[in-house]
Amino acid sequence: MNVGLEFVSGLARSSRVDEDARKQRPRVVLEGLSVGDAFGEMCAYGHAEVRKRVALGVPAGPWWWTDDAAMAVGIEECLHRCGAIEEDLLAWIFARNYKRDPDRGYGKMAARILQQIGEGEPWERVSKEAFNGGSMGNGAAMRVAPLGAWFAEDLDLVVKHAMKSARVTHWHPEGIAGAIAVAVATACAWRTRDLALDAALEIIATELLQRTPESETRSGIAAAVTIDPRLSPEVVGRRLGNGSLVTAPDTVPFVIWLALRSLGDFQEALISTVEAGGDCDTNAAMVGAIVTARLGVSGIPADWLEAREALPPADG
Ligand SMILES: [Mg+2]
Repeated sequence: MNVGLEFVSGLARSSRVDEDARKQRPRVVLEGLSVGDAFGEMCAYGHAEVRKRVALGVPAGPWWWTDDAAMAVGIEECLHRCGAIEEDLLAWIFARNYKRDPDRGYGKMAARILQQIGEGEPWERVSKEAFNGGSMGNGAAMRVAPLGAWFAEDLDLVVKHAMKSARVTHWHPEGIAGAIAVAVATACAWRTRDLALDAALEIIATELLQRTPESETRSGIAAAVTIDPRLSPEVVGRRLGNGSLVTAPDTVPFVIWLALRSLGDFQEALISTVEAGGDCDTNAAMVGAIVTARLGVSGIPADWLEAREALPPADG
């Protein structure tokens, strides 16, 4: 073989390896997302005592994951099937998964939307009509992280596909802004994993402010990135909102603050997230996903992974 051909065939081999590696990325992030989801759900009752509870030993499993992980698995399936977010396919996957396994703690409106899509209503009309103008809930943000990892090299694609993934069920600009922010945070945590923590944090904060559309959610993030990480989550949750209202602006800024203050420590990130109360499973799902984008699955304590209920396969 001549040198030129050898070079080209080497390139082809390395790009094949890259594509194979890319296919693993959504699952890496999902491991963190689902452990966070299940841990938050299990500890929501008595959340203020979660640190003491963990200090006594890892709570016995299985820790059941909820709608957050169920919908993120749907995003992963869509990426595996077509390498992108196609709204018609994603709507179909979400509705099918809801029909198969409806008791995962879906919100009332989410359940109604997924039921209607499953009955053949066009997703665009159903999504626009929710709350007369679209949902601004945190449901689009809670499930979006796998696509941030998938498109991590290209933040324009992250924003584009986060928006598409959101509007299938969350037409409201706040719901979409929340999804874009969490996707960008995940993508940036992934692409800066080899940088020192301080450098990574600066890049993530800068990109978040540049890429999140003008919204109440973005204003909250702008405040979040200036708040001292040494403050207690309870205090900061009172200022930014802790997800009690289950809207994107009440949830995502706090999640960003929590993820950035503990980006190098999965266990601390999740304990402090749940300690603050609010929408514990959803907050912890998003924080778990962003932190795992930096640390990889090896950053998750092995006994926590083992305690979490098994995830469904990646291909539906
Ligand atoms: Mg949930």
